[in-house]
Amino acid sequence: AQESNLIRATLFPGDGIGPEIADSVKKVFNVADVPIEWEEHFVGTEVDPRTQSFLTWESLESVRRNKVGLKGPMATPIGKGHRSLNLTLRKELNLYANVRPCYSLPGYKTKYDDVDLITIRENTEGEYSGLEHQVVRGVVESLKIITRQASLRVAEYAFHYAKTHGRERVSAIHKANIMQKTDGLFLKCCREVAEKYPEITYEEVVIDNCCMMLVKNPSLFDVLVMPNLYGDIISDLCAGLIGGLGLTPSCNIGEGGIALAEAVHGSAPDIAGKNLANPTALLLSAVTMLRHLDLHDKADKIQDAVLKTIAEGKYRTGDLGGNSTTTDFTKAICDHL
Ligand code: NAD
Repeated sequence: AQESNLIRATLFPGDGIGPEIADSVKKVFNVADVPIEWEEHFVGTEVDPRTQSFLTWESLESVRRNKVGLKGPMATPIGKGHRSLNLTLRKELNLYANVRPCYSLPGYKTKYDDVDLITIRENTEGEYSGLEHQVVRGVVESLKIITRQASLRVAEYAFHYAKTHGRERVSAIHKANIMQKTDGLFLKCCREVAEKYPEITYEEVVIDNCCMMLVKNPSLFDVLVMPNLYGDIISDLCAGLIGGLGLTPSCNIGEGGIALAEAVHGSAPDIAGKNLANPTALLLSAVTMLRHLDLHDKADKIQDAVLKTIAEGKYRTGDLGGNSTTTDFTKAICDHL
C-alpha cells in the first residue's frame, strides 16, 4: 500500500452481537475519516490443526504483521479437540496485560460521578493456566501458576502506564495472606518495580477489602494491577460502577508492541441479531487502539461524539434504559461527527 497512507489493522467482528457492533465501528471510522484499512478475519467453522482452534494461523499472522487490531466478542464453541478462542489469542500472541479504563460517563447518572480507574490484569497465567485434573474420584486439582517473569512484566507495564498517563498511584491487589507463595511472589515483583518509580505512590490492598472500598468509594483508587482471576472479577465490578458491560473498553498488550483492543463484554446471545446491542464498549476500545497508534485527534473526536450522544440522552440503547437500535445510536454518533 505504498500509494496510500493507510494503517492496516486486523478486525475480528466475532460472534453474537460482534458483527453488529463491529459494523458500527466501521461506519463511525468512515465518517470520522480515520486512516485505517481493516483486514477482516472471521472465526472458522473447522479447527485449524496449526492452532488447534477455530482461529486460523492466517488470522494470528495478520495480528502479528499489523501489530494492531480490534476484536469483537468470541463465544467459546462447545466440542472437543480445540482451545478457547480467547485463550488461543492470549497465548499465541503473548497478550500479557489487559488494560481496562473505567470512567464515569458525563450525563449518564449512576451512584458515582467520579469514577476514574484503570485496572491492569495479568492475562496469561494464574488460575487461567488451564491445568486442571482429577486426583481421585471426587477430588480435583487446579494449578495456579505465578511466575516471576510474567509478574514483573505486568507490574512494569502498570507503572510505566501510570507514569506516562499522569497517574499518581498504583495499587497491587492480592490475597497473599492466604496464598503466600503465589500472590506473595506477585507482590514481591510489584515491590521491585515500584522502587524504580519513586514518583508513583505504591500500595498493596487485599482483594476482599478492595471490593468493599471500590463499592463504597471508587475514588480511593487510581491504577490497579493484579493477577488474572482477580482482574477478571474486579474489572466487571468496575464496569458496574459506571453503567454496565455495554460501556467498558479494554486493550490487550502483547510482546513486541502488539495491541489488540476488545470490549470487556461477551457475545450477548440473548440480544444477538436484534439490532439492540450497545456498540459503545467496542467503539471506546477502538478509541484506545487509535491512541496506541498516536492518532489522538481522531480518538478525541470519536470519544467526544460517543459521550455527547449518551449525555444528550435522546438516543440510548436498552441496556442504558433507552429504546434506540444499534443503528440509530450509531447514526446519532455519526451526526455528531
Ligand atoms: P455477555 O457479556 O455476553 O452478556 C452478559 C449480559 O450483558 C447479557 O445480558 C447481555 O445482553 C449484556 N450485554 C453484554 N454486552 C452488551 C452490549 N454491548 N450491549 C447491551 N447489552 C450487553 O456474557 P455471557 O452471556 O456470560 O457470555 C456469552 C458468551 O460470550 C460466552 O460464550 C462467553 O464465553 C463469551 N465471552 C467472550 C468474551 C470475549 O470474547 N472477550 C468475554 C466474555 C464472555
